[in-house]
Amino acid sequence: AAKAAGGNRWQWFDPGMDRAADEAARLAADLRQALHRGQIFALYQPIVDLTTETPVGAEILMRWDHPEHGLIPPDIFIPLAERTGTIIELGRWVLAQACRQSAEWTRHFGAAAPRRISVNVSAHQLADPAFLTTVRDILAETGADPTRLMIEVTETAVLNATSAAHQLDALRELGLRVALDDFGTGHSSLSLLLDVPVDVLKVDKSFVSGDYADQAGAIVVRNLISFTDDFGIDAVAEGVETPAQAARLRTAGYHYAQGYLFGRPMTAAAFEALFTPARAA
Ligand code: C2E
Ligand code: MG
Ligand code: MG
Ligand code: MG
Repeated sequence: AAKAAGGNRWQWFDPGMDRAADEAARLAADLRQALHRGQIFALYQPIVDLTTETPVGAEILMRWDHPEHGLIPPDIFIPLAERTGTIIELGRWVLAQACRQSAEWTRHFGAAAPRRISVNVSAHQLADPAFLTTVRDILAETGADPTRLMIEVTETAVLNATSAAHQLDALRELGLRVALDDFGTGHSSLSLLLDVPVDVLKVDKSFVSGDYADQAGAIVVRNLISFTDDFGIDAVAEGVETPAQAARLRTAGYHYAQGYLFGRPMTAAAFEALFTPARAA
């Protein structure tokens, strides 16, 4: 929808402004009400098989449609939600949304349903002792198949939550998979991967299409795939924007990717249409 394609119209939050603190406090208050007021919604971005360029799954991404400011990017409102604790409620909502959608796609597509929906989980959720119970409750309520869900955590989240490894282990015992998101942007060492149980490494877009794409990024991308192969971890390349980038990843041995080239974050209906190729008339 037009909303979803709304680009980066966010110019309002300027930390240099005198009243920035006031405005941030007001925004935090707005965010606490946003869910009840129906301003939060979810989009799905395809994760594709690089060989066929067809979706095998999707990442669910939260959106906030503010009545005055329009679409506020998650890079603004997620950190705010984390600072104010609202992330627990928002995180529960997005997880439930993913589970409902997963159950619906299973009913709709049967065995051919998207293999997995990925859900971002923040450090605060991971550190919440009630998190596992929340996940179990949502699975029970929605009837979603846990093996069709993936939890995405960042290196920073894993480093900040003392019991992260234990939580992630417990999630994997429930059947969920765990992905390390934005890999390469945090301050952890590779030993994190030895300590923390992960199934998937998401190679950050800065190495694929961002600032480092043309120089060091090419080296990082090539080396990470041999690393993940040796460790038996799947790799997903993020931020693929051009056919040349996709070709480079294929050559390097990547099987999975995500990026504007294959699809922007879109509504569930748009994802279904993409997932079901229209039959020739
Ligand atoms: P992320 O988890 O790394 O999600 C991928 C981000 O990269 C998304 O931004 C997506 O729109 C963007 N992206 C995808 N393909 C491309 C591309 O080809 N080029 C470029 N330049 N960008 C691309 P989005 O939706 O704005 O989300 C930003 C971040 O906000 C996410 O990064 C994630 O850390 C956080 N986030 C979003 N939704 C949630 C949520 O439900 N819960 C939590 N805890 N965090 C969320
Ligand atoms: Mg993610
Ligand atoms: Mg990411
Ligand atoms: Mg990110």
